Amino acid sequence: MFDVEKIKKDFPILDQEIYGKKLVYLDSAATTQKPKQVINEVSKFYSSLNSNIHRGVHYLSIKSTEEYEKSRDTVCKFINAKHTEEIIFTKGTTEAVNLTAYSFGERFVNEGDEILVAKTEHHSNIVPWQMLCYRKNAVLKVIPADENGELKINEYKKLLNPKTKLVAVAHIANSTGVINPIKEIIDAAHNNGTYVLIDGAQAVQHKQVDVQSLDCDFYAFSGHKMFAETGIGVLYGKKEILEDIPPYQGGGDMIKTVSFEKTEYADLPYKFEAGTSNYVGAISIAKAIEYMQSVGLDEIEIYEKKLLKYATDKLLSIDKIKIYGQTEKKISAISFLLNGIHHYDTGMILDKLGIAVRTGTHCAEPTMKHFGIDGTVRASFAMYNTKEDIDKLYEGLMRVKKMFA
Ligand code: PLP
Repeated sequence: MFDVEKIKKDFPILDQEIYGKKLVYLDSAATTQKPKQVINEVSKFYSSLNSNIHRGVHYLSIKSTEEYEKSRDTVCKFINAKHTEEIIFTKGTTEAVNLTAYSFGERFVNEGDEILVAKTEHHSNIVPWQMLCYRKNAVLKVIPADENGELKINEYKKLLNPKTKLVAVAHIANSTGVINPIKEIIDAAHNNGTYVLIDGAQAVQHKQVDVQSLDCDFYAFSGHKMFAETGIGVLYGKKEILEDIPPYQGGGDMIKTVSFEKTEYADLPYKFEAGTSNYVGAISIAKAIEYMQSVGLDEIEIYEKKLLKYATDKLLSIDKIKIYGQTEKKISAISFLLNGIHHYDTGMILDKLGIAVRTGTHCAEPTMKHFGIDGTVRASFAMYNTKEDIDKLYEGLMRVKKMFA
């Protein structure tokens, strides 16, 4: 049984007042809050086991290394990767995309080749590809979207051609919550001999992901958006591709031997993990996964779908509200504007009522441009949000409307 009140109690930060009002946290797409199980695990680790990994023969170092590698195993099972060494720990989604753009680009992208990105991407799944295209004299092409922020799949298929080396698409668009048809995108790309990276930053905390059944070549996500620490993320890559591409950064831990004449790189996954990894962050991801699994990924998805429907119906009952990305195929976020009221004004008034929402472009300027606006208010949910949170948002928005009437 999904018990939101019990879940909420696991997140200590939610139990506080902001400006004398009970906090209503509706900014989980920016970062999720952390359950006490994760906070305690990190604290316990620092209090009893902390030591640098892959370096020492002493007890603490061996234990730290074991915990780090166990976390890799947990992540591997969580997304159903085939091999543990297909899991690379990074700083986050941004670094995972940059790693891919650099290493894949060095090996596979040449002058005149094409990279396809969706129009509704987060900047971190646009700019690294743009940088690759500048470096290699390649061409960045854009998959168009319709007025709801849904990708035009037929147009996408027409863009695929022998020069298309890679398609980079979000599983779920962060600025609207729209779920992209990634299986169809991946299958069409593979039929064309094109590789695919999926940006899963907004997906893994809301639904079960299976990289083998998706058959994507790369899949990226961030710890801090899935109830774990910040400064840690994951790049999944198919083993045969990761083996074939050069490392992204050089340094300790990513080598077998070093001399001034020649360096031999380490095997996977260490080839891509130069320097001291955020091993505590990795341990926090494993604990966050354990927490999500104790609630149940399917249960989370079902609950959040109901909450999204409740929130959408409630917000649409407000006169002259416009929701961007209004489609059935979406998850846990509502991006909107109240007619004539700037998103910052709405956000600042809501803040004074203890309600945290995100305002602005959501690091997706091309998406905002597509909608012909300079930003939205985004309320985004996680498993700990309740109908009461939505009711408070509704009341807050009615206050905003009254103030601007
Ligand atoms: N991709 C998407 C879809 C996102 O929502 C975000 C963050 O908001 C990112 C990438 C970047 O994630 P990070 O800043 O954790 O690297």
